[in-house]
Amino acid sequence: MIEKLKKINLILKLRNLGITNHKVLSVLERIPREDFIDKELSYKAYQNSAIPIDCNQTISQPAVVAKMTELLEPKKNFKVLEIGTGSGYQTAILSKLFKRTYSIERHKHLLEKAQKVLNKIKLNNIVFYYGDGMKGWPAKFSFERIIITAVSKNIPKKIIDQLSDDGILVLPLMHNNDQFITRIRKKKKKLYLKKYWKVKFVPLISGIN
Ligand code: SAH
Repeated sequence: MIEKLKKINLILKLRNLGITNHKVLSVLERIPREDFIDKELSYKAYQNSAIPIDCNQTISQPAVVAKMTELLEPKKNFKVLEIGTGSGYQTAILSKLFKRTYSIERHKHLLEKAQKVLNKIKLNNIVFYYGDGMKGWPAKFSFERIIITAVSKNIPKKIIDQLSDDGILVLPLMHNNDQFITRIRKKKKKLYLKKYWKVKFVPLISGIN
C-alpha cells in the first residue's frame, strides 16, 4: 500500500513538472522501477532521483525518463533505437510505447542484467546488442525515433544517418559546459534542434567494455 502511495506521489510530481502525455505517465506507473535497482536501494525506487547501478553508471531520474520519452512522441507503429541500456528501465518504458525497441549497451554485465529483468517482466519486443552505440545499429536500418541516455559533446553523425526522415532523436547534449535534454528533428536532411531541461548524465564513451 505504501508503495502504491509512493508511486502516486511520483506521478503527481511528474505532472507538476509539466509531463502531460497520459500514455507515458501510465507506463511509468506500471513499470516496477524497484526491479532495476539493487535491493538495498529499493526504498528509493519511487523518489525522483537518479540511483547508482553497476559499472559506475546510473539509472536516470524518473522525471528525466518521462520528459525524454514524451519528447520522442511515441507511436505504437514505430521502431525506436536506444543507446545506453544501463539498468533497462528506460528500455522497459519504450517497449510499452513502441512496436519494437532496439537497445545497445557497451557494458556486457549491464546488458545481461537488464535482459534478465526485462525477460522476467515479460517484455519481449526488445532486441539487444552488445557494442558501441556511437556506431549506430549494426545493420542497415532506419528508425523513426532514437534516444541516447548518455551525454554527448556533439551530434553523433552515424546516429543521425540511421534516423528516418521526419524522425526524432532525443539526447543529453553538451552546450557551453552544461548538459541539456535536446530534441533533434530531421526534415529533408536538415536538423532542427530544441533545448529543454538542464541535466546530468554519464558520458557517451566509444568502444566496448
Ligand atoms: N537508460 C539507462 C541509463 C543508463 S546510464 C537506465 O535507465 O538505466 C547510460 C548508459 O549508457 C550506461 O549504461 C553506459 O554504459 C552506456 N553507454 C555509454 N556510452 C555508450 C556507447 N557508446 N554505446 C552503448 N552504450 C553506452
